[in-house]
Amino acid sequence: MVDIILLGGPGAGKGTQGELMETWLDLPRVSSGDLFRYNLSQQTELGQQAKGYMDRGELVPDEITIGMVAERIARPDCANGVVFDGFPRTVGQAAALDALLAGMGRAVNVVLNIAVSEDVLLQRLAGRWTCSSCGAIYHRLFSQEKVEGVCDACGGGLMQREDDNLATQQRRIRVYQEQTAPLDAYYRQRGVLVDIDGEQSPEQVGRLIRAAIEAVLP
Ligand code: ADP
Ligand code: AMP
Repeated sequence: MVDIILLGGPGAGKGTQGELMETWLDLPRVSSGDLFRYNLSQQTELGQQAKGYMDRGELVPDEITIGMVAERIARPDCANGVVFDGFPRTVGQAAALDALLAGMGRAVNVVLNIAVSEDVLLQRLAGRWTCSSCGAIYHRLFSQEKVEGVCDACGGGLMQREDDNLATQQRRIRVYQEQTAPLDAYYRQRGVLVDIDGEQSPEQVGRLIRAAIEAVLP
């Protein structure tokens, strides 16, 4: 049983690494951003509530986000642990996650703090393409698909996220610095935070992450 948090700015590589970890750890990746985008695509009430915040690059209020994640991790596939991607993003969400996991007899085992400078974050977000069908992540320069515009994994079409425009990207980075960066101290105090140099190839970042997780696995 292991509960892992991927922490890092927008574009740091959380989704990229989370996808790889899902496979080798055989654990579900719970991405709050993906859950919101799914709700948007299904035009649910939750999706409607989240839309304005996402379009502006702001955080969706804690009560909405926490409720959505609580419902997700109560499902049976999360019984052996979770790779959290993009959640928590505020101290309030972190405290709520502690309480939720404590209620299941669990606690956060390791927080992977993927550090990437602002310039590189912007470069990554500008070239990000995502499969509209399975969500696989590509980059125009750093992680290209084999056939242009077609997902290697499922054959779906690739698209750019609506919030990957320059103004929203810059806003998301500011919001990260103001509201999410304090989680660094929150988890460091507890001794569960591991710093990962995110400015290396995805393979090398993956190796660092794997070593950090193997150090805490029972
Ligand atoms: P996040 O989930 O943290 O927002 P993503 O995993 O979606 O970030 O990555 C953002 C973009 O950067 C994607 O286009 C991805 O292919 C690319 N990327 C991820 N990790 C690396 C890396 N180590 N080196 C270069 N590009 C990367
Ligand atoms: P992401 O896919 O992680 O880049 O998230 C996309 C957008 O979804 C963010 O810019 C927020 O508007 C919203 N979002 C995702 N996760 C959270 C969260 N934990 N708390 C608040 N808003 C979130």
